Amino acid sequence: MTSENIIRAAEHEAVESDMKFRHGCIIYDKHGIVIAAGHNRRLTYNGRARFHPFHRIMVKSVHAEIAALIRAAAPWHCGFRDMKIYVHRLGGGNSKPCDGCFSVMLHMGIRPQNIDWSGKDRIEESQYGRVA
Ligand SMILES: [Zn+2]
Repeated sequence: MTSENIIRAAEHEAVESDMKFRHGCIIYDKHGIVIAAGHNRRLTYNGRARFHPFHRIMVKSVHAEIAALIRAAAPWHCGFRDMKIYVHRLGGGNSKPCDGCFSVMLHMGIRPQNIDWSGKDRIEESQYGRVA
């Protein structure tokens, strides 16, 4: 269960996004200390997708989780095993990490039970093939 403080911090971070669907991500430790924040943002070259070394695919945007991971300096030394991640869509809508971000987070050593997102308790939105 993600605390109100973390949810508020993620909402605040999502405001910074320049995308249509604005997401913010907070990486924090077991004491609730915020380690890093990130938001999704456009990443295009003349309107085209670009290769992103973390996503490892051509993307038109950097997702909030990746932006936060890149900013999280300390865990690159100590490991991400005890880190928690919360991904938030502005206003609290569904912000389930995509398969690419999920695999990156797991690869970094973040445990699946430490990954949470807004809208998790709702039926997934139509972009995932189901209508709320
Ligand atoms: Zn993603």
